[in-house]
Amino acid sequence: MKIAPSIGVLALQGAFDVHAKRLAELGAETCLVRKPADLDGLDGLVIPGGESSAFLWHLERANFYEALEAFVTTKPVFGTCAGCILLAKEVSNPPQRSFGVFDISVERNAYGRQNDSVILHAETSLAGGDMEMVFIRAPRVTRTGDGVEVLAKRNGDPVLLRQGRLLAATFHPELSEDRRVHDLFLKIVQQTAVD
Ligand code: GLN
Repeated sequence: MKIAPSIGVLALQGAFDVHAKRLAELGAETCLVRKPADLDGLDGLVIPGGESSAFLWHLERANFYEALEAFVTTKPVFGTCAGCILLAKEVSNPPQRSFGVFDISVERNAYGRQNDSVILHAETSLAGGDMEMVFIRAPRVTRTGDGVEVLAKRNGDPVLLRQGRLLAATFHPELSEDRRVHDLFLKIVQQTAVD
């Protein structure tokens, strides 16, 4: 196993810099991914928040969708918010193309106008107690498959989920000081490299 795993952050759109900074603070080698060749040699990838429809537009325009699909099908990937939507098996409101690797259904922009962006504290099964969560026009996870582990909930809705080498959050952990979610992803990457 390499000492510092190399983790890419998809940088086509959205909030990628803060993820890269956080991962670097935790000891990963990071790089920004803008084209298929940037995926070569990476141990893991973060797909950040932004607008999932805009990500799709960029990916299809740059002939990047298939290469990214091959990566998310085999390697550790952490999707936050729009990234979570891109990984999900089913997307609604409106229905939209997705990689379909994470066995969840998501409804985009599901928390309504009043409450579409909010910072709250919620329970997590990760060690260390409640976690601050920043939600920005977040999707709601409406179904989880058998292999999906729910690591945190917001009023009963799953907001942090793991399915083996895949991690997804409907909030933005990179915008809080708490490093536990990125730390978990790093551990998943390291563990996958050993297996
Ligand atoms: N509303 C966005 C979408 O549907 C996701 C928002 C976010 O990533 N913060 O893609």
